[in-house]
Amino acid sequence: MAAVESAAGEAGRDFIRDIIDGDLAAGRVREVVTRFPPEPNGYLHIGHAKSICLNFGVAQEYGGRCHLRFDDTNPAKEEQEYIDAIMRDVRWLGFDWGQHLHHASDYFDQLYEWAEHLIRAGLAYVDDTPPEEMRAMRGTLTEPGRESPYRNRSTAQNLDLFRRMRAGEFADGACVLRARIDMASGNMNLRDPVLYRILHAPHPRTGDRWCIYPTYDFAHGQSDAIEGVTHSLCTLEFEDHRPLYDWLIEHLPVPSRPRQYEFARLNLAYTVMSKRFLKRLVDERRVAGWDDPRMPTLAGLRRRGIPAAAVREFARRVGVARANSVVDLAMFDHAVRDELNRTAPRRMAVLRPLKLVIENYPEGQSEELDAVNNPEDASAGNRRIRFGRELFIERDDFMEAPPKGFYRLAPGREVRLRYAYFVTCREALKDAAGNVVELRCTYDPATRGGNAPDGRKVRGTIHWVNAAAAVPAEVRLYDLLFTRPDPGADGDLMADLNPDSVEMLTGCLLEPALAEARPEEPVQFERQGYFCLDLDSRPGRLVFNRTIGLRDSWAKSQTAARAG
Ligand code: ATP
Ligand code: MG
Repeated sequence: MAAVESAAGEAGRDFIRDIIDGDLAAGRVREVVTRFPPEPNGYLHIGHAKSICLNFGVAQEYGGRCHLRFDDTNPAKEEQEYIDAIMRDVRWLGFDWGQHLHHASDYFDQLYEWAEHLIRAGLAYVDDTPPEEMRAMRGTLTEPGRESPYRNRSTAQNLDLFRRMRAGEFADGACVLRARIDMASGNMNLRDPVLYRILHAPHPRTGDRWCIYPTYDFAHGQSDAIEGVTHSLCTLEFEDHRPLYDWLIEHLPVPSRPRQYEFARLNLAYTVMSKRFLKRLVDERRVAGWDDPRMPTLAGLRRRGIPAAAVREFARRVGVARANSVVDLAMFDHAVRDELNRTAPRRMAVLRPLKLVIENYPEGQSEELDAVNNPEDASAGNRRIRFGRELFIERDDFMEAPPKGFYRLAPGREVRLRYAYFVTCREALKDAAGNVVELRCTYDPATRGGNAPDGRKVRGTIHWVNAAAAVPAEVRLYDLLFTRPDPGADGDLMADLNPDSVEMLTGCLLEPALAEARPEEPVQFERQGYFCLDLDSRPGRLVFNRTIGLRDSWAKSQTAARAG
């Protein structure tokens, strides 16, 4: 797959790749096997993209393989919809797991056997301590935990109880299976961690077969070992779990010896990366769904028009390190603009139309002009656009009393209409309330194509659409979902939601070529930004999303002026 090759070819150097080089050189591993292990309890977000690009990227570079493994050990929160969405999103990002689609639930029988193995070895016991009390007995970072009164049950008793847990004799939460390690360990994860809990809930894949489910800690490393994963790459919050990961691998007759390595998770300013919180936004209808274009989910980014290549390039630029940090949103925006600038065809669209009539252009006449599809890509060629007497321009491109530095249209001022002619504004017609509703202009026929034979210059070039040919559309302008770079820092994420994160514009007018637009195919609306067709579009009812704006020099100079 081409996308995979380019993603791999671009990868940089980092400590993970150094470790792998060392392992290969020393003969500790022959083939690199990684896995991406999502829990199907929500949609993937941009943070997951970092992990996907790392795991699949590394496997690709070293000629190994990367498995997609669903960590489906908690049926209370997991759904088929999420499983389907995750597969769609990983594929969209450009990666392929080949034959290696796995589920932790594929290993439930084996994991169960290994739990009994630990019991027989005196390394696990059934604990009836109520959850609250068990938590209190775990101790703190400075105080050791206390041993459960059930800790010294006999092997026979433990086996009997564990089998009865499995048989469904006990209610949810009545007891758990715990590893028997060390209640005084300096590492809380080694204070007799829970390995199995009771949950009478049907599982999307195993149905009613199980009413006990392994914890993440018990399932993860063992699943890695079953699959022959060599490098189990996860985020830093699992660093403290590594001793437990290793303890389990050492005490079980697993078929291979995986190693866990931790890297910093991606944090992005103005963005929340928690499936739990994103689910709340969806459930409470603060957004239109998991794929709402304001969401940091891969489905949302895709719908907004962000190309997969830009996400991969962003991940590459962020790199892989061991120190947590917050990445500036500008870094993401740059990667997106770089990609779109190269690939998106240019079109003209007027979002807030103002009528412009060229008084000296003959009525009933029209003509075709040449327009460049993409100045960054000669192979994109040209297209023909129709010009006529009645046009629409952007309302913002006219000012009755222009301040210094405003080079667009104003009474008596001449500007260039993109790809067309110079026009001069003769008069602004107003309605009863004093709003400008129409501009009366003249054009200079000698400036066809946008240059004056007499060499006179104009400072402004504005875009336009032809009133007779333009197609109407709704355009959705998105802003940041949160009002601050560190949403939730004061404790309430919901309070930091941006109330103006979307603006819906109707009555926008597009050049006719945009009627052929398709979702996920980015276009640049000249001078406005990058856009793409939204999934809500229907024949005759076009809806576009703004993917990202262009940097607007006028708006920027205004901000600078205000700040100064
Ligand atoms: P969330 O907190 O959003 O629910 P999670 O870690 O619980 O995320 P998982 O489905 O368990 O979600 O994650 C699958 C993989 O993606 C894990 O290996 C995890 O470490 C990685 N991952 C999750 N979030 C990030 C992130 N922000 N940056 C990098 N990797 C991440
Ligand atoms: Mg998780």
